[in-house]
Amino acid sequence: MDEAAAIGGPAEQSVREEVRAWLDANWNPERSLIEWRALLAETGWGCPTWPPEWYGRGLSPALGDVVAEEFRRVGAVGIAQGGGTMLAAVTLLDHASDEQKRRLLRPIITGEDTWCQLFSEPGSGSDLAGLTTRADRDGDEWVVNGQKVWTTSAHHARYGLLLARTDWGVPKHGGITYFLIEMQQPGVVVRPLRQMNGHASFNEVFFTDARVSTANILGGLGNGWAVALTTLAHERRLADGIRAMVRSAGGTGRIFDEYRAELVSAMEPYRWYPQRAGRPDLVVERAKATGRSSDPAVRQEMAKLLVMVRAAEWTARRAKEGRARGRTPGPEGSLGKLAASNVARAAARVHTLISRTDAMLSGSDGALGGVIAEVLLSVPAVSIAGGTDEIQRNIIGERVLGLPKEPAEDVGKAFRDVRKNVAS
Ligand SMILES: Cc1cc2nc3c(=O)[nH]c(=O)nc-3n(C[C@H](O)[C@H](O)[C@H](O)COP(=O)(O)OP(=O)(O)OC[C@H]3O[C@@H](n4cnc5c(N)ncnc54)[C@H](O)[C@@H]3O)c2cc1C
Repeated sequence: MDEAAAIGGPAEQSVREEVRAWLDANWNPERSLIEWRALLAETGWGCPTWPPEWYGRGLSPALGDVVAEEFRRVGAVGIAQGGGTMLAAVTLLDHASDEQKRRLLRPIITGEDTWCQLFSEPGSGSDLAGLTTRADRDGDEWVVNGQKVWTTSAHHARYGLLLARTDWGVPKHGGITYFLIEMQQPGVVVRPLRQMNGHASFNEVFFTDARVSTANILGGLGNGWAVALTTLAHERRLADGIRAMVRSAGGTGRIFDEYRAELVSAMEPYRWYPQRAGRPDLVVERAKATGRSSDPAVRQEMAKLLVMVRAAEWTARRAKEGRARGRTPGPEGSLGKLAASNVARAAARVHTLISRTDAMLSGSDGALGGVIAEVLLSVPAVSIAGGTDEIQRNIIGERVLGLPKEPAEDVGKAFRDVRKNVAS
């Protein structure tokens, strides 16, 4: 379908009328959260862009936005957010067998199962394909040994998206397999890490003879790198989904009570995510409230920041429209990621100019109840999570500017013969 024609046209009108009528007949804040989300799964209104045979309605992203707008209009709660939907489900939809989809997708939608992403290791973050966590076959099972780190939500996840090395005799990208591992088992130990902003979203995860069934290999043995690329492609959208979820938690009724309880348990690791984006949305209001809006130096920096924000929004919109028209994603991903880092850093600087030394006070008596201090302590995460700024520049250099590739000494060599970042 031509997306441009659909929006504002008869397709949009018909989807809008259909979802409105359905919400009028079914949305009831006194239902239980799980029961409501089960209904969303059955009818496809919770994930309208997913295929009709897998809990969706096969709508285009633009028409999916129309459905989301109607949900917002009546204040209806959506499907569970977080690593389950934004990372696991999208990867399962592309690579899982029908048996895996039947078993795993529905509890992700309802929020009964939460997931974490077991990719980074102490010796492999940017060099993800250099990972050394191993999985060795034992009958119908695989035995996992090694360590992961920076694993958001591992402390409550039921499943982990695990990259492990299953073949040491081939070049590094070819020997990796993607597993769906049960986290609640004796061979998995999760230890929380506390960040400088006071939150403890991440964990170290240790595997000692942990077990995972062959039925939980995703996308085939040795094909883990291709599957991982799907997960990574969706990682940046995670933060947007989280922000939308926090915004819609204000209603009254049983469903909202349960929803808020979910926000302080399963969603707790993401509570500071709005602050890590730098909160440029607060800048003008803060400058006025503190009387700093008449200072020419502050005004100058605010204007520069807001120009950057607008340019980043337009680039993101261009990328979204391109995707809606079926265009393969181009360099906008890396450009957008870098722009987000630049905006977050600039916003933190402007907040400091506005709040001056008060910006350093954390806690409820700090500037804006401590939110400004949390911004300053959280923005460095944007330049690291989902691929660092330097890695984005490498991608832009190689794929957009056509610069020579980074020299690599491991190309074509069996992984066991390659120098590692850690002893193995
Ligand atoms: C908020 C947040 C959430 C996260 N959640 C998860 C999660 O749930 N699961 C998970 O698996 N991981 C997670 N991570 C980890 C994240 O993916 C890694 O931190 C990231 O990929 C960088 O890896 P590293 O920390 O090992 O840094 P390194 O790769 O060791 O990099 C160190 C420095 O060297 C630079 N560098 C490295 N290689 C190059 C190069 N080739 N060229 C130029 N410079 C280079 C980097 O840019 C960086 O400045 C999370 C991180 C953050 C901040």
